[in-house]
Amino acid sequence: MRHIVGSHLSIAGGYYKAIDAAAELGMSCVQLFTKNNNQWAAKPLSDEDIEKFRNAYNTRGLQAACAHASYLINLAAPNDELWRKSIDAMIVEVERASRLGLGGVVVHPGAHTTSTLEEGLERVVTALDEVLKGTKGLTAGIWLETTAGQGSSIGCRFEDLAYLLERTNKKGAERLGVCIDTCHIFAAGYPLISPEEYEATVQQFDRLVGVDRVQALHINDSAKPFGSRVDRHAHIGQGHLGLEPFRHVMNDPRWERVPMYLETEKGTNESGDEWDAINLRTLLGLVGKRAGTPKVAVKKSKQEKKAKKG
Ligand SMILES: [Zn+2]
Repeated sequence: MRHIVGSHLSIAGGYYKAIDAAAELGMSCVQLFTKNNNQWAAKPLSDEDIEKFRNAYNTRGLQAACAHASYLINLAAPNDELWRKSIDAMIVEVERASRLGLGGVVVHPGAHTTSTLEEGLERVVTALDEVLKGTKGLTAGIWLETTAGQGSSIGCRFEDLAYLLERTNKKGAERLGVCIDTCHIFAAGYPLISPEEYEATVQQFDRLVGVDRVQALHINDSAKPFGSRVDRHAHIGQGHLGLEPFRHVMNDPRWERVPMYLETEKGTNESGDEWDAINLRTLLGLVGKRAGTPKVAVKKSKQEKKAKKG
């Protein structure tokens, strides 16, 4: 089984730098910010930025690339000014991602803050309708991410994501997808460790949201315990998830064509090895190793396409 695995990488020095870094790490996909993630304003993308990026993507042989939206965006905000600003900013995110040729933009559904969950959900529905309308004809999707449920953040229950997808089920809604984050759902209270727990969680997700709506996976261990509702990522196998959930994920044919992105801390370990390379190696090392798991028919990948270095 050959999964599409990559990481969130920096665009410092140029958008194409993220592609180069992914390829050099032996990754087959990459996630990036298309603008400073802590600022509303964005420098316009130049034709040169786009050409260099698309060139690098094609020559490096990557199989997928996506964006992560700015953390400032809150499509559930009860405050009209912030909500309107968020819609406009999300439209810009989708425009930029489309120009770069990215598959989609991962966005957290939002936080309802001083309003209720129900009111927050309605705000997100209206906002998504506006974003879809404002980006009509563009190629990049809008992928709602499962959240840990920290504070008043929406999206920590599969039911909420199902509701959002159902309510925005109109023209253009085929561009709406979902991103599952392993750290977030575990922190939100969905068990993943034993093979039975993992299977039950994926089946529950499938029943409510649909596995076919998943456009990206965020592959992170959790620094905080099960059900803590705190969003803190850890290196693969070094948090409260441990290696087992990742063994299930890496041997699950349902995710075979779904790009997986690490969002773990950068830097190097004590031997000077890059954490992205270590985490990638750990994940790929779990493929085909089903220790302690029940027998499940796993179909072999049809084309063992080379996703290695360009
Ligand atoms: Zn994530």
